[in-house]
Amino acid sequence: MTTFFDYIIVGGGSAGSVLANRLSANPAKRVLLCEAGADLPNDKLPAAILDSYPGTAYLNPNYLWPDLRVTTVAPTDATTAPRKLRKYEQARILGGGSSINGQFFNRGAPSDYDDWEARGLKGWGWESVLPYFRKIERDIDFDGPLHGKSGRIPVRRIFPDAWPKHATAIAAALKESGYSYLPDQNGEFRDGYFPIAISNLDERRVSASMGYLDAQTRDRPNLTIWTDTEVAGLLFEGTRCCGIRIEAPDRPATVRAGEVILSAGALQSPAILMRSGIGPAAHLREHGITVVAESPGVGQHLMEHPSIALASFIRKAARVNGSTRRHILLGWRYSSGMGGAPGGDMFVSVVTKTSWHAVGERIGTMLMYVNKPFSNVGEVKLASADWRVAPSIDFNFLSDERDLDRLVDGFRRMAAVQALAAVKEVTADPFPASYSEKVRQVALLSRRNKMITDVLAALLDGPPPLRRLLMTRVIAGGATLADLLADDAALREFVRGACVGVWHPSCTCRMGADDDPLAVTDHQARVRGVQGLRVVDASIFPHIPSGNINFPTMMAAEKVADMMVGQVTAAAAHMA
Ligand SMILES: Cc1cc2nc3c(=O)[nH]c(=O)nc-3n(C[C@H](O)[C@H](O)[C@H](O)COP(=O)(O)OP(=O)(O)OC[C@H]3O[C@@H](n4cnc5c(N)ncnc54)[C@H](O)[C@@H]3O)c2cc1C
Repeated sequence: MTTFFDYIIVGGGSAGSVLANRLSANPAKRVLLCEAGADLPNDKLPAAILDSYPGTAYLNPNYLWPDLRVTTVAPTDATTAPRKLRKYEQARILGGGSSINGQFFNRGAPSDYDDWEARGLKGWGWESVLPYFRKIERDIDFDGPLHGKSGRIPVRRIFPDAWPKHATAIAAALKESGYSYLPDQNGEFRDGYFPIAISNLDERRVSASMGYLDAQTRDRPNLTIWTDTEVAGLLFEGTRCCGIRIEAPDRPATVRAGEVILSAGALQSPAILMRSGIGPAAHLREHGITVVAESPGVGQHLMEHPSIALASFIRKAARVNGSTRRHILLGWRYSSGMGGAPGGDMFVSVVTKTSWHAVGERIGTMLMYVNKPFSNVGEVKLASADWRVAPSIDFNFLSDERDLDRLVDGFRRMAAVQALAAVKEVTADPFPASYSEKVRQVALLSRRNKMITDVLAALLDGPPPLRRLLMTRVIAGGATLADLLADDAALREFVRGACVGVWHPSCTCRMGADDDPLAVTDHQARVRGVQGLRVVDASIFPHIPSGNINFPTMMAAEKVADMMVGQVTAAAAHMA
């Protein structure tokens, strides 16, 4: 068995799939892709993964890291209760997040990338990253300078003529509130409401691995893919990374490489670095780890999009209608104008079906998140030096009060939309919602959950007084919408208690300028202080983009791959 490769990629997720394809395009380079989760070849894709409705894929324990627990909101001076740990889904399967995610495919704001450049990241401004966004996509609906037409990932939208009435009613309410209809979410970045752009073709998901690790790519003799293979650590000779350590049946214990690329995601990549001796020195010593290179930024600066939701009962005629299985058709972007935030800093997904079961078909939400948060003091730390033990993760949402202010203001904006006649006609009994452990448990696919929710759904469709009783006592619980709207302190308390992330961890190995002591990686994603090692995944963002982060992660992978291939070409030209 070959135990030397030119490149070893650790993690076959959104970034790793792109890199495996691009780096193995040169037949002279031997590439190994190691993925902890199971394989997902394109001819054996489970229905739940392909489904346009993603809710059964992203709660399937077979596709997830089992032990990830996180804390959410940052403590305040007044906090005395111990913070609660909650489960947090991250993919452990080929294709990573892109195999189980919500399929939203958007890029954030041009100003996000100009801000990266202003932070010292030469070559990462909007004009420099746009060609890589275009390279990835095959936009089915739109053409022009902002769009690609021949990439590996098809992008489409489901337009209003196919929307269920729940979505069209909220769109009508947004129009009445003064927002414009934008046919193309990925066109000019401005405020308005729009059909959500998705990585999907013919009502089927297209993930990074489906697009980039197709049969033809897998047939390349210089590309080896090992799935069910968790990398236990990195090998070093001095400060040069020279390979990986594996403890898996039928695999060699060590594999050597010219260069190792960590693409294990924003929670696992920093943990692997720290276990291998790269990180904050005091923290490493606490765990008895020998320091290879001190890098105080590893695991720091964790960012996510903090969210809250307003839910309601959807009347029968307005539910998901069979023309599509998609549950989220409509998006709404607006500028809060608060705290010096840039334009388009807030985002709302209009969710017409909140779970696969019959109750989920009857409850819709407006799910709001801060598209451009200020809070950036989340952290990933080691709970143990043992690679089998999950890292410890504190998101510290709302550590910057301006994020709390914007969610409180945003909740009132959603309530105002909910109160308009068009929305009241198709919904009833609105309530402040939270993604509690109870909601998660009922969302797990099981016969028992189906039976319970079938009965509850039939009762919800019964007489309105009974529905109201069930909605307040069984489904909602806690403060009512009227309570919160009448009492600002109670509303702030609700937002702090209900705020969760939307599965967008990022920025934990951020790229940065030479004079930035917390920059873990340079503008080519090379790990500072060592040689032969890069990180390429959502952890290298200097700041979280104003949108869903799968497409930006794939952009970063395409861009770094291009730099790596370019370097090889330049070196060969120099030697010739
Ligand atoms: C439930 C959910 C819904 C989401 N919805 C959306 C959405 O609709 N749109 C959007 O843009 N973004 C969405 N995201 C976020 C987006 O999918 C991720 O940000 C993106 O996939 C991150 O890519 P990555 O390459 O950084 O990491 P990942 O795609 O997570 O890939 C990391 C891979 O590395 C593997 N790995 C980790 N450690 C090891 C190890 N030690 N050895 C070997 N392999 C290892 C993991 O198993 C995983 O496959 C969602 C994410 C989730 C989880």
